Amino acid sequence: MTDTARVVIIGGGIWGCSIAYHLARAGVSDVLVVERGELASGNTSQAAGLVGQLRASELMARSIMAVVDRLSRWQAEHGEDPGFRQVGSLKLALTDARVRELEAQVAQAQGWGLAVELIAPRDAQVRVPLLETKGVKACAWVPTDGYAEPYTLAMALARAARRLGVRMRTQTPATAITIDRGRVTGVETANGSIACETVVVAVGPWSELIGAALGLRFDTIPIRHQLWVTAPMDGIPREMPVVRVPDASVYLRPEVGGVLIGGFESAPKRFAMADLPATFTIEETERDQRVLEELGAGLTRAFPALQAAPIIRGCAGLPTFTPDGNFLVGQVPSIRGLFAATGCNALGIAGSLLIGQWISELIVEGKPSADLSTQALTRFGSRYGSRGRLQADCESIYANFYALDKGAF
Ligand SMILES: Cc1cc2nc3c(=O)[nH]c(=O)nc-3n(C[C@H](O)[C@H](O)[C@H](O)COP(=O)(O)OP(=O)(O)OC[C@H]3O[C@@H](n4cnc5c(N)ncnc54)[C@H](O)[C@@H]3O)c2cc1C
Repeated sequence: MTDTARVVIIGGGIWGCSIAYHLARAGVSDVLVVERGELASGNTSQAAGLVGQLRASELMARSIMAVVDRLSRWQAEHGEDPGFRQVGSLKLALTDARVRELEAQVAQAQGWGLAVELIAPRDAQVRVPLLETKGVKACAWVPTDGYAEPYTLAMALARAARRLGVRMRTQTPATAITIDRGRVTGVETANGSIACETVVVAVGPWSELIGAALGLRFDTIPIRHQLWVTAPMDGIPREMPVVRVPDASVYLRPEVGGVLIGGFESAPKRFAMADLPATFTIEETERDQRVLEELGAGLTRAFPALQAAPIIRGCAGLPTFTPDGNFLVGQVPSIRGLFAATGCNALGIAGSLLIGQWISELIVEGKPSADLSTQALTRFGSRYGSRGRLQADCESIYANFYALDKGAF
């Protein structure tokens, strides 16, 4: 059976759903999403969903500010809750070096128009009663930050796309992209062929496999990222802000009466999708409790109460990291009609509306509204001839994300 579509999106995670919605919103109605499992069943469902605007790059700061604005208006526009919880965020400095960095970051972000201020640790404690202020040297407060419940947001994007005519086929793995004389002609799936001139690869860590089948390499490595949730605890306000503790490489947010704890360990574990079974699903990502012990140790001074908190749940997934912490998006130069979006750097929930907008602009208008040279698919050129060097640089970004202050969360 051969179907046809104007654009086929491979991958029904939050990026695939967002790309589909933005294309349909731009008037491309004949869009088909193919997903090997269920929508949002990959990394999307595992994420903490933090949406932070205090960032090191102007492009990302301004872009995430625009995302926050759109998320806060979503309910009024679409008549449904996108799962955005605008609880504000605190970024703590526990060392003198971090205080200077935080002060510089706050001043820079204010210049870009973000409402952010330095507040006294005691004022931070009012918002987060669990916080022990003794070791805290400075706090930045961003009242409009928050987190998005990832599944809820992905489903809101999927429903908005469907209302505009997008078709979505789950349990439909794409098995090949067909190409004739350097141009995309279609997608083969387990349930038949689809003829199309434009394909978007939005398969998260699986981009490695699709790339290899086409003789392409995307400069990104899947690295395991984990989080844990405590049992409900006294003293956790329902509207507790997101807390980032860069000196401990940890982030916290409220989760059904308890605290969600995630972070970036110093010796991350990378994966190669080709080494995993073809049936691998993200929920099967192996967990490592020692990572929680490492991250928890960094929180001893600022959050002593968390040391004894019972953990009731953990999540793990394989977000893709790049050597500079920026997304990888754009058109594949050697194959006309082929676009890819990967390298989420554990920022793909916050960035989902941007990715959708950027890919849609690339396809519909031929160029994006922002200068995306820092996010370009091709920006590393032939620098990573060896996978070993790519792995080392991506691992270094993961392990030093806060230290390098790329502003990951
Ligand atoms: C523990 C954890 C915490 C995180 N916290 C945050 C956070 O606080 N903030 C944030 O912004 N981000 C966070 N992230 C990252 C976030 O989850 C990702 O950036 C985001 O989900 C990327 O979405 P995606 O659609 O690209 O990938 P995915 O959600 O992985 O979706 C890819 C989809 O492609 C499908 N697929 C694969 N191969 C095929 C094929 N051949 N045919 C059809 N379909 C295919 C898969 O089944 C999957 O559904 C976190 C991630 C983890 C694991």
